[in-house]
Amino acid sequence: MERTLSIIKPDATARNLEGEILSMIQAEGLRVVAMKRLYLTTEQAGGFYEVHKERPFYGELCAFMSSGPIVVSVLEGEDAIARYRKLMGATNPEQAEEGTVRKKYAQDIERNSVHGSDAPETAAFEIGYFFSQLELVG
Ligand code: ATP
Ligand code: MG
Repeated sequence: MERTLSIIKPDATARNLEGEILSMIQAEGLRVVAMKRLYLTTEQAGGFYEVHKERPFYGELCAFMSSGPIVVSVLEGEDAIARYRKLMGATNPEQAEEGTVRKKYAQDIERNSVHGSDAPETAAFEIGYFFSQLELVG
């Protein structure tokens, strides 16, 4: 069993897509073991995306991620990290495969509707950034 962190981003909550995206996640067989709705400050978004600090799009990304509410959740399942990445599709929606969340809903490379952890170490950091042990109910 593996856990990964999912974020439904501000572009998606603005279009009322939380339910649609959670449906796709549950149809894939991933279990939601924690979930909350948050409105991050730019600093809180910056702390989450610390690994991208040196990237040219960091400032814009933090502004976007704090521009509206997000829904963060922890997904559990066998191979959850890779399975959720596959369901999300490529970062750039123009390269995302049919049937993926980003192909269906992303607006552009930045406003791409969802986030998912990319490795066990980042998943552990990201889950801990938003949830305490007590909030993870498997
Ligand atoms: P995420 O980490 O959100 O799951 P990802 O792992 O597919 O997405 P990363 O390379 O980690 O992509 O980039 C993090 C986020 O930064 C992207 O999801 C997107 O919102 C934004 N981003 C990535 N590349 C660019 C870019 N070239 N221009 C603008 N924003 C970008
Ligand atoms: Mg990433």
